[in-house]
Amino acid sequence: MTHAAGVEGPREGLVGPSTVIVMVGAPGAGKGTQAQRLAESLDLITISTGDLFRAALRDGTALGAEVRKYVEKGILVPDPVTLRVVEERLAQPDAAHGVVLDGFPRTRVQAEALDLMLAHEQSRVSAALYIEVEAPELVRRLAGRRVCSGTGQHVFHLDSRPPRTPGICDIDGTPLVQRNDDKPETIKARLARQLPPMYEVVDHYQGTGVLHAVRGDRAMDEITEELLRLAQRAPRKA
Ligand SMILES: [Zn+2]
Repeated sequence: MTHAAGVEGPREGLVGPSTVIVMVGAPGAGKGTQAQRLAESLDLITISTGDLFRAALRDGTALGAEVRKYVEKGILVPDPVTLRVVEERLAQPDAAHGVVLDGFPRTRVQAEALDLMLAHEQSRVSAALYIEVEAPELVRRLAGRRVCSGTGQHVFHLDSRPPRTPGICDIDGTPLVQRNDDKPETIKARLARQLPPMYEVVDHYQGTGVLHAVRGDRAMDEITEELLRLAQRAPRKA
């Protein structure tokens, strides 16, 4: 395993984030929301690769142009590029106090590369917080989304954001529909692709001793409290 491509070893004087919390969870597990809540409570910043890619597309850097090649074709940004994007973000001054990573690492290879990257900067993953939700429950949650058939812009959810009148958009009164992407069969196929690499990430952090699993089939607030407790107990960089 080499250092992230395109970066020649540790940069002088660079000090990595003092707290690095990695959020692990399937789509529908509530990971993004919990990442935001943790970051707010602990005064850390969240780093989501989705946001980083969108930012990279906006700025005119060489790295942004590299990211654009993949995003515009709708293909997965390859690991070396993703790692460079993350590494650049971690090196920003506002990340020095600590970060919550959301959506990265997505694979074991990325998790190993992150460990190496942080080690170069005298830092390490403080805690990997895994929000565990059974696959059938994920399917149920993800299949609950309904969108307005008028604009497609108004989004509801049978559990978390139900329309006032079932099946009808609150905003413009047009019928709500289920997108093909949100049909159970499509979701199951997507999860079948996404879960195995996520389990490898879970295994990786189990192996490095920083994994904490929490049950995700509870109220959001309850999960937040437990995650906060775990994050605060996590060792920090000396
Ligand atoms: Zn609408």
